[in-house]
Amino acid sequence: MWNGVGGSTITWAAHVPRLHPSDLHRRTLDGVGDDWPFSYQDLEPYYDLNDIALGVAGLAGDPAYPPKRSPRLPPLPIGRMGRTAARGFDALGWHWWPVDAAVNSGPHGGRPPCSNAGPCLLGCPIRAKSSADLAYWPAALWRGVDLRTGCIAQEIVVRGGRAAAVVYRDPAGVTQEQPADLVVVAGNGVGTARLLLASKVARDPDGPLGRYLMFHPVAYARGMFHEELDGPSGPVGACVYSHEFYETQHIQLQITRENSLLAQALRLGPVWGAAAHRLVREEFRHSLSVMVVAEDLPEPAQRVTLTRATEADGLPGVRIEYALSENARRILDFGLDRAEEMLRAAGAYRVVRVPLAPLTGWHLLGTARMGIDPATSVTDARGRLHDVPNIVVADGSLFPTAGAVNPGATIGALALRIADGVAEDLAS
Ligand SMILES: Cc1cc2nc3c(=O)[nH]c(=O)nc-3n(C[C@H](O)[C@H](O)[C@H](O)COP(=O)(O)OP(=O)(O)OC[C@H]3O[C@@H](n4cnc5c(N)ncnc54)[C@H](O)[C@@H]3O)c2cc1C
Ligand code: SF4
Repeated sequence: MWNGVGGSTITWAAHVPRLHPSDLHRRTLDGVGDDWPFSYQDLEPYYDLNDIALGVAGLAGDPAYPPKRSPRLPPLPIGRMGRTAARGFDALGWHWWPVDAAVNSGPHGGRPPCSNAGPCLLGCPIRAKSSADLAYWPAALWRGVDLRTGCIAQEIVVRGGRAAAVVYRDPAGVTQEQPADLVVVAGNGVGTARLLLASKVARDPDGPLGRYLMFHPVAYARGMFHEELDGPSGPVGACVYSHEFYETQHIQLQITRENSLLAQALRLGPVWGAAAHRLVREEFRHSLSVMVVAEDLPEPAQRVTLTRATEADGLPGVRIEYALSENARRILDFGLDRAEEMLRAAGAYRVVRVPLAPLTGWHLLGTARMGIDPATSVTDARGRLHDVPNIVVADGSLFPTAGAVNPGATIGALALRIADGVAEDLAS
């Protein structure tokens, strides 16, 4: 993840799908996981507001979703690679749609259109890709928010059951204390749990705080094609996806763009000379990757805890206890089979599978989950800690279930909904 103003949206792929309405009622519908303490309809106006703030390119009318009311920039080009994938999905009669992407397809928000050069995960050099620092911070600063960069929150001081201050380390390494009537924590699924655990805010140290960590397990199927594709051209996360199996198997099949030439070559392993050249020629601009994204169910044993060590940033170290569940493994295997079917139908002559993608963990969710019952949730539906109500969480830690789509749009919508709740509380 990314430490800095704008957080991990600096390095994200900016693919901004919404959860399906059913994702918020997993327990009622399927008898597993949990229900969210509100419905998709409650979140919908905030999804729209977040889309407008980010600037989203996309195509209206995706039958996988209720109609989305927020205006969209024209969709980004899906290119030869996208059209090849569409050919495969069409041959099987499966759903596919161009992704919603927080990437400018034309000039918007004082920012230029995407130059299609990729790779976006290093941060967009021309600011065509939207991120929290571009979409939200300028207005906040203009309204007078005091942004202190390079600081690390060490502890939320709680007195008499209420947060009273935040102790932080400033860029010079000096400890400071900021008195506070209200504290909002948005440090991502690990950072939020770490700060709240370090601050000992939970009455029950063995309670839900830090538990129910969810990741979105990912697998890949890569098809090789004789025809030349344009895989690396374009924003990395913006092509097409299929939700054909979303409602039944809780899986998203997302076509991602190819890596840059060097990244692609490095992945081939220790081959040299003519053999390396042949392999690179075979793959580069001739492959199509299907990213299989599975829903992870909330399990109390999957969790973030603190170690006894103190890290360089002054906070306790973090230990992550997580194992791929049998359920997620089966979803991934099902998705890999479907991805291979699609690739063959599109004309791939060879398919390579990566059963579990290494170096994922981009989506860290659930460690300070919302809910009604304090025994199984950390906050209420407005992000207020059950145990210390003037501490508010406003990030992906709140998710009671993960769905099978990238969480950024939902995190943005949740943060806006929580902000309205905070404004109401402050006014009352
Ligand atoms: C490579 C990559 C690609 C991704 N692609 C997508 C995508 O295409 N679509 C999508 O929806 N999502 C994507 N994501 C995930 C998405 O970026 C994150 O889920 C989202 O940004 C999380 O938002 P957040 O506010 O919870 O946390 P973050 O954006 O991570 O922000 C947390 C901030 O808190 C700060 N922080 C933490 N602890 C402390 C502390 N103690 N003191 C001070 N500051 C602290 C961190 O430095 C950070 O700046 C991607 C992530 C990565 C890494
Ligand atoms: S491809 Fe990505 S990094 Fe390049 S301009 Fe477009 S959004 Fe920015």
